[in-house]
Amino acid sequence: MTIYLNGEFMPIAEAKISVLDRGFIFGDGVYEVIPVYSRRAFRLAEHLQRLQHSLDGIRLANPHSHGEWATIIGQLIAHGEAQDQYLYLHITRGAAKRDHAFPNPPVKPTVFMMSSPLPPPAALLQSGVSAVTAPDNRWLRCDIKAISLLPNVLLRQMAVDAGCTETILIRPGSNNERLFMTDGFMTEGAASNIFVVKDGKLLAPPKDNLMLPGITYDVILEIAAANNIPHEVRRIAVTEVFAADELLLTSSTKEVLAITQLDGKPVGSGKPGAMFARLNNLYQEYKQKVMRA
Ligand code: PMP
Repeated sequence: MTIYLNGEFMPIAEAKISVLDRGFIFGDGVYEVIPVYSRRAFRLAEHLQRLQHSLDGIRLANPHSHGEWATIIGQLIAHGEAQDQYLYLHITRGAAKRDHAFPNPPVKPTVFMMSSPLPPPAALLQSGVSAVTAPDNRWLRCDIKAISLLPNVLLRQMAVDAGCTETILIRPGSNNERLFMTDGFMTEGAASNIFVVKDGKLLAPPKDNLMLPGITYDVILEIAAANNIPHEVRRIAVTEVFAADELLLTSSTKEVLAITQLDGKPVGSGKPGAMFARLNNLYQEYKQKVMRA
């Protein structure tokens, strides 16, 4: 596997970074995951824009212009074996003597990128996936795609431990985690965005500091608007999550999936529903259209 590290392409076994890298020491960095279809990056401009937002959020200068990123990404895609891939792009504040404060003067950031084959989600599309709920105990800047993912790691492991795919995060409304099942509101999944469907309407939580502004989330809302699918962006109470007719999960690597079981109980009919079928079809059509353009 060929990876990109600080200006060079090399076999992954030859890639080396300092143990003093602030990504390793503090988790001081940001990342992006970009899907690639037929060797073309999907929504590249939007991903690079979100990367800029994340870099601004941690006060790290962007090491590359948009054009430079596009060039490096194009080269990495060409190195990949599969037609459909996903790129992992990772920037840290670089290697410096261990001190929480930023290195002064700044040091060169570490830039790492790798590509993996995009797995086909076929089986999960038919069956849907199961999820659990848990209190969202992350920080208050979830809009930054930070590499420090320990809360997300622990939260998603709760799903895996329960034999499920995802953990739906409920932010306690009263600052009391024990009350999250009564006064909480839904933010997102541990590694995805979540939509609720009720009475034919698609509900999405607002893009604020408590969730990652998903690129797939935006595509779904654009598709809903373009196809006159009733939708509303607003805060979603935990009680609405449990009363949902359908729950949908979106991410760049999983695209759109139906959540058919929540905390061991069926969601709606317990099968992928009509809104899922419609949005998934429209999403696949949209993908084909933009990749042909
Ligand atoms: N929220 C979180 C916490 C994520 O990690 C991800 C991506 N894995 C998403 C949402 C979905 O974002 P996108 O559609 O851009 O992949």
